[in-house]
Amino acid sequence: PILNTYMNTFEQLGLNEQLLNAIKDMGFETPSEVQDKAIPVLLAKDTDMVALAQTGTGKTAAFGFPLIQKIDANSRETQGLILSPTRELCLQITQELKNYSKYVKGLRVVAIYGGASITEQAKEVRRGAHIVVATPGRMQDMIRRNMVDITNIHTCVLDEADEMLNMGFYEDITSILSHTPREKNTWLFSATMPREVASIASEFMSNPYEITVGTKNASSKNVQHEYYMVSGRDRYLALKRLADANPDIFSVIFCRTKRDTQSVAEKLVEDGYNAAALHGDLSQNQRDLVMKSFRNRQIQMLVATDVAARGIDVDDVTHVINYQLPDEIETYTHRSGRTGRAGKSGVSMVIITRSEFRKIGAIERIIKTKFDAKQIPNSEEICE
Ligand code: ADP
Ligand code: MG
Repeated sequence: PILNTYMNTFEQLGLNEQLLNAIKDMGFETPSEVQDKAIPVLLAKDTDMVALAQTGTGKTAAFGFPLIQKIDANSRETQGLILSPTRELCLQITQELKNYSKYVKGLRVVAIYGGASITEQAKEVRRGAHIVVATPGRMQDMIRRNMVDITNIHTCVLDEADEMLNMGFYEDITSILSHTPREKNTWLFSATMPREVASIASEFMSNPYEITVGTKNASSKNVQHEYYMVSGRDRYLALKRLADANPDIFSVIFCRTKRDTQSVAEKLVEDGYNAAALHGDLSQNQRDLVMKSFRNRQIQMLVATDVAARGIDVDDVTHVINYQLPDEIETYTHRSGRTGRAGKSGVSMVIITRSEFRKIGAIERIIKTKFDAKQIPNSEEICE
């Protein structure tokens, strides 16, 4: 499931021999995108970091490798703390870190989580814990009972920060952080950036280095990109043919202007499709109603402007159709990111005329993915 399209090797990221050998044993061949972007920065710089990346992109190694390399295994002190939302994740991260550090002599990683004996965990910590991987609740408990000392850590990782905050750990996290030294590095990893995460970042981090991978910039691997070359006057016909050829379509159709958005939606409705327009000339009430009908599938084809579609977070969108390409080609990534979410597959289609063709190459460079050239299905190919 990992994105391995980067030219760097693990050697080039600056990792030491012990880690490289462990990586070889694990069978990782090349770094994933988040690893490629985060590891060199975290190794070389004394910096805070905010990294946004979807699940399954290899975040554990992105913070785990540089953290392990920064541990002095000859000292007995706890130097790194990783906070993670659940007991399962806590155990999983601990196991991963043990695999990564198998050639680092004496390095100890200890898991701290609820639902298991606190005295056993305290004993493990006393035997030495260079890195503590903890759930916030149990961590708080152990700090209160003086069972763990994090006053000298140099690195604190907040893994799945959005999940932790969703689960109501805000207070625990802030209280735990108050027991850590000021001059440490905080590395925050999250799939999304809701307000609470942004607020943790601004409160506890200084000038963090920011990286984003996944739908926010490069295109999701789950999305297939297709273009259909038509003559300008056939644009609308092409759209109908695409809809007819995909009867289960659940799609967002992008137009460039509010006016085109409205008129395409009206034409689709006249022609018998489940369509509606979403653009800034509608009242908030109308927009809410449209979004509600789209969410519960009363509307199959949502025709929208880029601005109106910005907040749309609807899973299972099967097709994004670029009825017209956006003025800014970067906008294409936002559009195509409406499909292929949460591991589902999706198709992003572009209807273009010959004169717009050069934009395809420009988009391919941004999304680092090739388009398939497709033919508009003709009516014989579309069965009712
Ligand atoms: P995330 O925390 O982003 O959800 P994980 O760190 O759990 O992702 O990694 C997901 C899976 O990918 C794990 O099974 C992990 O061992 C594997 N993995 C991580 N990095 C690589 C890599 N560079 N090459 C191959 N597999 C990798
Ligand atoms: Mg993870």
